[in-house]
Amino acid sequence: MLNQKYVRTLLVGGILCLLMISCKEKKDSRVVIQQKLTPLHKLKEQPMPGEWLAEHKETYQSFETYVNKKPTRLDGGRDKIYIMRIGTFSPAELQIVSKAARYLWLFYGLQVKYVSVPENANFLKDSREREDTGIQLSASLILNDVLAPVLPGDAAVLIAFTTYDLYPRPDWNYVFGLASLKKRVGVWSINRFGCADNPKEFDQVFQRTIRTATHEIGHMFSIRHCVKYECCMNGSNNKYEMDGRPTYFCPECLRKLCWNLKQDEKQHLTRVRSFWINEKNYELIGFYDRSIKAISED
Ligand SMILES: [Zn+2]
Ligand SMILES: [Zn+2]
Repeated sequence: MLNQKYVRTLLVGGILCLLMISCKEKKDSRVVIQQKLTPLHKLKEQPMPGEWLAEHKETYQSFETYVNKKPTRLDGGRDKIYIMRIGTFSPAELQIVSKAARYLWLFYGLQVKYVSVPENANFLKDSREREDTGIQLSASLILNDVLAPVLPGDAAVLIAFTTYDLYPRPDWNYVFGLASLKKRVGVWSINRFGCADNPKEFDQVFQRTIRTATHEIGHMFSIRHCVKYECCMNGSNNKYEMDGRPTYFCPECLRKLCWNLKQDEKQHLTRVRSFWINEKNYELIGFYDRSIKAISED
């Protein structure tokens, strides 16, 4: 009897020990990946006057702080990105949204689905007219009255792209986008990103669209502004500062993301690389090649 008890204790202890080792290995492998990727990234430089960090005092959110703060995760089967299009889109603008949807699918590794504007939604309510951009929608009305009531049960987030200009509050001139992290809804305007119908500006509009959407969805998973590296999660005061921001995450933000979504870093990098291969963007293909090589080496 005593022997059996002893054997059982040994067995349970052994299993616990194995579990602890495998948890530690998993944890350590993300640390190692972060370390291997670090030399490929630039530390954030001192901000120039007028840049985001010159005007906003932001604190560094380490991976440990992020995990301890219990970030928003894909609880209860909420594992899809839903996209709504609000307004009239030209064929080129439709192409921007569909390419952005594909990019978000590959970046976040989450299925992307479209949802229509609800028939009874009056998104023009509270809109106002501007001389330069025409009708300007109330971004808060879109979040609260159009998006939040139709948030699908399996949605990680519901985001809307619009061709209308947006304003957040009556005393503000405009805003590129607005998101409610609590309600997991967000709206972004492509109105001020350039003219998608002009072939010379198409790529710029696309790049600004994916930078904004990737950044804001990152916030929806509780990732704060990155102050340590040049990173897609850097804050930016205007579209020109945004243009200088990478489309990719720094090693620490990537670790937060992959830990949160329980994803493999190499698979993330391989997926996003496949997008840039399709786009023939050799600079980014090179960056992803170097990243994959760095984490594959012993
Ligand atoms: Zn932000
Ligand atoms: Zn970062």
